[in-house]
Amino acid sequence: MELDRAWQRVAATARRAVAEGLVVGAAGNVSERVGDLVVVTPSGVRYGDLGPEERVVVDLDGRQVAGRLRPTSELALHLGVYRTIGARAVVHTHAVHATAVSALVDEVPPVHYITAELGGVVRVAPYATYGTQELADHVLHALRDRAGCLMRNHGTVTHGPDLETAYERTAHLEWICRVWLLARGAGNPSLLSHEEMDRVVEKFRGYGQPGRGEGRTG
Ligand code: 13P
Ligand code: ZN
Repeated sequence: MELDRAWQRVAATARRAVAEGLVVGAAGNVSERVGDLVVVTPSGVRYGDLGPEERVVVDLDGRQVAGRLRPTSELALHLGVYRTIGARAVVHTHAVHATAVSALVDEVPPVHYITAELGGVVRVAPYATYGTQELADHVLHALRDRAGCLMRNHGTVTHGPDLETAYERTAHLEWICRVWLLARGAGNPSLLSHEEMDRVVEKFRGYGQPGRGEGRTG
């Protein structure tokens, strides 16, 4: 069944985030849209403990349609992305370098062209308490024309046409933040211009192998 397959992808992505050091414990949340439903991680459950019993399904208004556990406290954020952006998957983490950068700048300094994976220079959404509509609204504003943003003093949000893409965007965002922190710690790094970022965003549309769906357009 489609919802079960989506849950397997959600749980596998959550476990991957822990294994690759992007998430500690139950911090962060993952979801995938299936039609008018959203399969999402439960609140406060460690990713290592996610089995079939932990599956949560809600509709686009947040009404729970399956599962006995409560959905993530950031449900408003996930649903906001699905309602306003044509995304199929959302990943939120407290990845360490990205969270550090979120406390320092208003935009992620474009120290590398891979920033174009996120659709251009990445914004930092203003701080609001976790799990609030206010935070969801800040994030949606920061996400306009972008596939990801930082949340001030909190972490990352990325979306994509599938979970693998959304997850890889988080990994890229964390990597860029790490590079910038390393460079900033050693000196005064040069940055790419907004014009160069626009050029690379355009060039990425034709990246990869034709017909294999791996171009960076999602
Ligand atoms: P949940 O466990 O409710 O998903 O919350 C984790 C989190 O990252 C809140 O911002
Ligand atoms: Zn969080």
